[in-house]
Amino acid sequence: MINFDYIRMGSISSAVKALDKFPDAKIIAGGSNLIDLMKRNVMAPTKLIDINPLPLKYIHTTKQGVQIGALALNSQAADHELIKTKYPLLSMAINAGASAQLRNMATFGGNMMQRTRCSYFYDTTMPCNKREPNSGCSALTGINRMHGIFGTSDVCIAVNPSDMNVALVALDAKVILKSAKKERTIAFADFHKLAGDSPQLDNHLQKNEMITDIIIPENQFYNNSYYLKVRDRHSYAFALISVAAGLEMDGQNIKKVRLAMGGVAHKPWRLYDAENFLQGKTASLQNFEEAAKIAMKGAKSYGHNDFKLALAPSSIVEALLKASHLS
Ligand SMILES: Cc1cc2nc3c(=O)[nH]c(=O)nc-3n(C[C@H](O)[C@H](O)[C@H](O)COP(=O)(O)OP(=O)(O)OC[C@H]3O[C@@H](n4cnc5c(N)ncnc54)[C@H](O)[C@@H]3O)c2cc1C
Ligand code: SF4
Repeated sequence: MINFDYIRMGSISSAVKALDKFPDAKIIAGGSNLIDLMKRNVMAPTKLIDINPLPLKYIHTTKQGVQIGALALNSQAADHELIKTKYPLLSMAINAGASAQLRNMATFGGNMMQRTRCSYFYDTTMPCNKREPNSGCSALTGINRMHGIFGTSDVCIAVNPSDMNVALVALDAKVILKSAKKERTIAFADFHKLAGDSPQLDNHLQKNEMITDIIIPENQFYNNSYYLKVRDRHSYAFALISVAAGLEMDGQNIKKVRLAMGGVAHKPWRLYDAENFLQGKTASLQNFEEAAKIAMKGAKSYGHNDFKLALAPSSIVEALLKASHLS
């Protein structure tokens, strides 16, 4: 671990000014991912900007839906009455992640920004284009059991490891980003990026920006939501595949549907074509199987993760059956 400076910020404006002044600085929130990466020399910021004192820990209703500050804890949201009753998909996804202790440290901003869990990314003796651009991708021909099947590139096949992100993309969340000069709001679906030819970048956040808020619009999915996570251990393991499903039902008719997957792509992966197919249809095993078939178009596996081509569609069907109370 290299030496670094540490500055503790008292206001949002001082934090964004510091980001502007020190382009190589990194924000530290809960520290549960960043400190691990620094200890292993995967990331080596020379300055840490501690934002913990900032007033961004709220979870409250607004005209649009619910607004969550970037420093709200994962445990705080998962246990929040409003989230549990109106946005249970988010609660379920958060509770499927990490451990109770980690969820007590993990913030919304930090969870959104957590780096991939590709083991070669963490191993500084191995080539990795994400850690060191143009050094090569060890996973392409190496152990790639946890890796992507959608939107992969020939320079990186890593996946976004977050459970929370899968629920947020399904729920049409928005993100507020702030720099010293401006504030912008973007769709959560546009925050993370595919690896393309710049796998070193996980998302579209600029170096001088910070995440201040996440907004989830109101929805009617609360009676028919399910987050399915398939993993090697029952708890404390990252997803092999996860599916977030939210349905708005009129009897057995699907009025609206939101579907997203984790563990399959460099970004939380929304299943738009499958959603379009299901809209207006009856909730049934047959329709869910057809939607899963549609969702799998374009999937490509890399050897050790071939099993995901069968696991992913069956997980989509299972999540939809659970969300619609058919199983
Ligand atoms: C053993 C273990 C198991 C885990 N299992 C799971 C799991 O199953 N599912 C899951 O989803 N997660 C899992 N996690 C990951 C955990 O959820 C993340 O470590 C946590 O969410 C990161 O949040 P943090 O606040 O601690 O972030 P930090 O470590 O403080 O920061 C992470 C990154 O976010 C940036 N950042 C933080 N806040 C902001 C902001 N407001 N604006 C801009 N950038 C910001 C930091 O600069 C840094 O790059 C696990 C972690 C561990 C250690
Ligand atoms: S998949 Fe991505 S993160 Fe993993 S070794 Fe290849 S370039 Fe690195």
